[in-house]
Amino acid sequence: MSREFAFPGTRPRWAPDRVVDIQHLALELDVDPASRSVTGTATLRVAVIADDTRVIELDAVELTIDSVTVGGAATGFRHDGKKLRVELAAPAAPGAELVIAVAYRGAPRRGLYFIAPDEAYPDKPVQVWTQGQDEDSRYWFPCFDAPNAKATSEVTVRVPAPLFAVSNGTLVSDRTDGDRRTLHWRLDVPHSCYLITLAIGDFATIETTWRDIPVVYYVERGREAAAQRTLARTPEMLELFSKRFGVAYPYPRYAQVFVADFIFGGMENTSATTLTDTVLLDERAALDYEVDALVAHELAHQWFGDLVTCRDWGEGWLNEGFATYSEYIWREHHEGRDAADLELDEWAEMYFGEDSGRYRRTIATKHYEEPIDIFDHHLYDKGGRVLHMLRNVVGDDAFWRALAHYLDKHRLGVVESRDLARAVEEATGKNLDWFFSQWVLDGAGHPELDVAIRWDAGEQLATVTVEQTQKVEGKTPLFRIPTRIRFRVGGVDRDVALDIIDTKHVFHVKLDAEPTQAIFDPGRVVLATLKVAKPEPVWVAELAGAALAIDRATAAAALARRGGAGVERALGDALTRDKYWAVRGAAALGLATLRTATARDRLIKAASAEVNPRARRMIVRALGDFVHDAAAGAALAQIVERGDASYFVEAQAALSLGKTRTARAGELLRVAATRESFNDVIRQYAYRGLAEARDDSALGLLADGLRWGRITQGRRAAAMALAVLMRGRRDREARDVRERIELLLGDRDFRVQAAAIEALALIGDPAAIAALRRMIDRELDGRLRRRGKEVARDLENGTSAGEDLRRMRDEIGELRSLAGTLRERLELLEAKTGGGAKLIAATKPKPAAKAKPAAKPRPAAKAKPAAKAKPAAKAKPPRR
Ligand SMILES: [Zn+2]
Repeated sequence: MSREFAFPGTRPRWAPDRVVDIQHLALELDVDPASRSVTGTATLRVAVIADDTRVIELDAVELTIDSVTVGGAATGFRHDGKKLRVELAAPAAPGAELVIAVAYRGAPRRGLYFIAPDEAYPDKPVQVWTQGQDEDSRYWFPCFDAPNAKATSEVTVRVPAPLFAVSNGTLVSDRTDGDRRTLHWRLDVPHSCYLITLAIGDFATIETTWRDIPVVYYVERGREAAAQRTLARTPEMLELFSKRFGVAYPYPRYAQVFVADFIFGGMENTSATTLTDTVLLDERAALDYEVDALVAHELAHQWFGDLVTCRDWGEGWLNEGFATYSEYIWREHHEGRDAADLELDEWAEMYFGEDSGRYRRTIATKHYEEPIDIFDHHLYDKGGRVLHMLRNVVGDDAFWRALAHYLDKHRLGVVESRDLARAVEEATGKNLDWFFSQWVLDGAGHPELDVAIRWDAGEQLATVTVEQTQKVEGKTPLFRIPTRIRFRVGGVDRDVALDIIDTKHVFHVKLDAEPTQAIFDPGRVVLATLKVAKPEPVWVAELAGAALAIDRATAAAALARRGGAGVERALGDALTRDKYWAVRGAAALGLATLRTATARDRLIKAASAEVNPRARRMIVRALGDFVHDAAAGAALAQIVERGDASYFVEAQAALSLGKTRTARAGELLRVAATRESFNDVIRQYAYRGLAEARDDSALGLLADGLRWGRITQGRRAAAMALAVLMRGRRDREARDVRERIELLLGDRDFRVQAAAIEALALIGDPAAIAALRRMIDRELDGRLRRRGKEVARDLENGTSAGEDLRRMRDEIGELRSLAGTLRERLELLEAKTGGGAKLIAATKPKPAAKAKPAAKPRPAAKAKPAAKAKPAAKAKPPRR
């Protein structure tokens, strides 16, 4: 059961009043990395909107205000540490223009971040960068900090020479006087102040162009090749999005700057995106690591977010849903539909996990404590899926036409969901209010569908029964679902439209012959959980030959749940023969659920034969399911020992080896934990493997892995591995580990703090509540506060998902292995005694009417929802 999204007492949040219209914002700043401080003046040119305006209120948190002038004359002001109230000498009437200048200084704790080397990290560069979204610009300059105020902007910044500073728009001037360097940037296109950026450092510059527009990459010196490798496709993305969105890239320049210790994956600051330097690909990582999605996401925001902006954060999906969906658009163009469809699975998994594990909410909402709370998988991943459904409801041409109209109509403006609905209606003639109501505004959750497909040979009739089984309660509605079923008859695909509006439908479709394939919702467009019952031969034919890879992968997962020798053969064929790597990978995961010795042997063989590293990674992952299996363990041990061309295959082999809990796991994982790799991935997985192996003797090694001075990702993994080993334990050793992890709640690295919260949730000891509460009280990061509150609440209620669930999963894993062995023995026995035929005959006798026997579908068993074959190979950084 999902928990409530909003904590008790949460009041609705509305966009603020606009007393004035901010027309232009100019910052003149002196930034000193040594003292971690900023001094300067913010000058705002405003036009009064409200009647009889006597006071203008600005956001300015923890800044020291030295003076305020209006029109050059000193004026009174009050500042309570959060709000700066500028008192006008005389009431101003609507339309009056004022120039307000605020001289200030500060050592910001948010918004502006100072990075420098220390003893533990001597190679860290000196950098200063900003992160304004959602409400942190107010920590480094006085502003009207809400997305519904847009202004042109300029930033003039003095920094120690030879450091450089990147900001929005174009560089107007750059001069050095002695040891100070002054850079002046200006953007003449209005934007919201959360998008104002500064990134200061000693950067190398890589410059290219797209349609005469400069495209520039900034990166720490010495990492130029990696930056080029990571961003190479930016111009092609600019071209694609300009065409697809129907509005050419709207700014005079596009810069991307890599910074250290960034607190997100990327941030779409107008015309100057900031990216984490953890995505800088070395050559080996570039083999199978994915950054295009992040680059495309931030670039797409330049249209959806920067040019057209959500009116308030409650409508944030209009930024994030589009940016997320643009990852699909890019991949579809660059790698084809099959690759793009993998995104759909990944988003669904993220959203379903949040929906079942944390809370259920409407995508657009006013009920949240802090804006950051709603930047979740509902906003991004479900938002992206909703746009994919929208595209399929209106059709491709209409969809692109609607986007172009929406962008053109609202360019430089702010929007809410109804603006999108109206724009789609104006461009396509379709009133989609029902669609936005159920998916975005009023409805929460998703359809849960039971589908049964039967063939009546006598009548030449296919019967499709569809039931919506989700509990209609709270905000979860009965959905209206326009979709299709794809029959293959005589080798030709034929789509039949289905409009699902009721709890239960029975559709009859006349066909010329028995279909060899019958795919409900081809392409998995609808965001729904599906249980589909149809004859096994149909699943087998779909696995072997469905047009879309995502449908073949779905068939692999469905067959895996049935088991049996025929299924194993079909999965084995797909494992070696399918043309698409993710289907081969899905077949591997399917074989793993069978747990037979022959399935294992197929996987071992494929692990060395498979040339695609992404598929290989999935095969290696599948082998990890063979708990206590010496042969699987030996195959994995060999991969860990000799390594792999791919970091990720090697890392996955370490984790899988640990999961098998076989003889050499402990020894080899300790070796793997010494290997250096991209983002510490091999060490991360080795740590996890040690925990999965239940290797208590690894406690010392893991505790050392937490140390300040080690790589962030490895530290996080060490914390989680320790938690896995200690979950549910309350002895002295467990208490020591918990206390160590509690200390990490105050770590200087945000990402390690976040891992510490998850680790405490996993350990499940209510004794951690006090430390969590202290963190919540002092912490400035909303993400940590929100997650800390959730975990503290769950520990208090004793509903921590940790222990029971995981112990159960372990047991299920072991039972499965046993079941696989038993089934195999049974089949062997049947083959010897001829008993197999009897078992088959025990299912319904088949009418002998047609040449091809009409296979009777099995009843729609209440199977567990598909443990969907997830292409784990595409590790992605968190986006923003
Ligand atoms: Zn984003």
